[in-house]
Amino acid sequence: MPEESRQFIHGVFLAELQDWIGQAGEKKFRAKQIWHWLYHRQVEAWEEMRNIPKTLRDRLAESFVFQALEKLEVQDSNTGTRKILSRLSDGELIEEVLIPAPNRRTVCISSQVGCMYGCAFCASGQLGVKRNLLAGEIVGEVLAAQKEYGDRLTNIVFMGIGEPFDNYDEVMRAIRIINDPDGFCLGARRITLSTCGVVPGIQRLENEGLQVELSVSLHAPVDDLRDKLMPVNGSWSLEELMDVCRHYTAVTKRIITFEYTMIRDVNDTEELGRQLVGLLRRFPCRVNLIPLSEIDEYEGKTSRPERVDLFQRLLEDEGINVTVRRSKGTDVNAACGQLRSRSIKNSE
Ligand code: SAH
Repeated sequence: MPEESRQFIHGVFLAELQDWIGQAGEKKFRAKQIWHWLYHRQVEAWEEMRNIPKTLRDRLAESFVFQALEKLEVQDSNTGTRKILSRLSDGELIEEVLIPAPNRRTVCISSQVGCMYGCAFCASGQLGVKRNLLAGEIVGEVLAAQKEYGDRLTNIVFMGIGEPFDNYDEVMRAIRIINDPDGFCLGARRITLSTCGVVPGIQRLENEGLQVELSVSLHAPVDDLRDKLMPVNGSWSLEELMDVCRHYTAVTKRIITFEYTMIRDVNDTEELGRQLVGLLRRFPCRVNLIPLSEIDEYEGKTSRPERVDLFQRLLEDEGINVTVRRSKGTDVNAACGQLRSRSIKNSE
């Protein structure tokens, strides 16, 4: 956790700010004015809040930190994606990726410094988890992305570094601030949470009443292979995971997207394709096939296009909606699974 004792202002709910304002003996309407500056005008310093008296701005500055992230570096990929490296107040570094597409301005954000789940093919978890991001830091990523675009964000995906359900409370707090009509005001359906299969997180999300999108990283249709690729499978088996996913869909009426990273001759054989079809048969869902982005720490190679086509065909023949994610940004290590966290000390 950062040593800073003050809270990040972008992690505070409007109602909490209203309470603070009340306790400070100030006028309650000030809280909405402040939120307007934070999320509609997106100012970057207290001084810019021109209709807030200086005495109140000074008191706010004593209690809350304005900037959670400091932008260190921006890397442009030749595919149009852009990676932002930022420093947190305790010196940890995180990455986020802008993924522009026609009529879409997506950002892929991080939820933790590192990740404890250690999927074999993912760079983000190679060093374990350092700490959770606070809501103010997550909202800070979103604001930084919008500033970098110079235009309104249309989609946010929690597919950067970390496991969002391992940091459930702060991620949910950030989503509520992002979703709040008085806050960042982005529709919940434009926000996607991706989990490696943390079953209690899926169960909790079911009861949030939030219309966010849920993606579940599957990557293998049988336990022995999934055990090898994703240690999380040792905690929650495929059967438990699929049961909870079915329950989630039945209760929320929301369609889950299963992510399947395709690794040459490891999880992309025809037999495994048929087993995947068997696993998902009669379950209303989507599948997102992601050809592996190769990383130094893992010997696996990306699937040949024929195998991706084969999987797509097998699934579609069963009536399952399939998309293939052509991962972008490999030239600047900004593609799926290539983000990593570092400490400022050993970042060079
Ligand atoms: N912890 C979450 C979100 C982070 S990763 C999760 O596991 O879902 C977002 C997606 O990228 C996941 O499906 C993840 O398995 C996938 N991924 C990780 N490393 C990858 C790689 N090297 N190539 C392609 N996809 C990868």
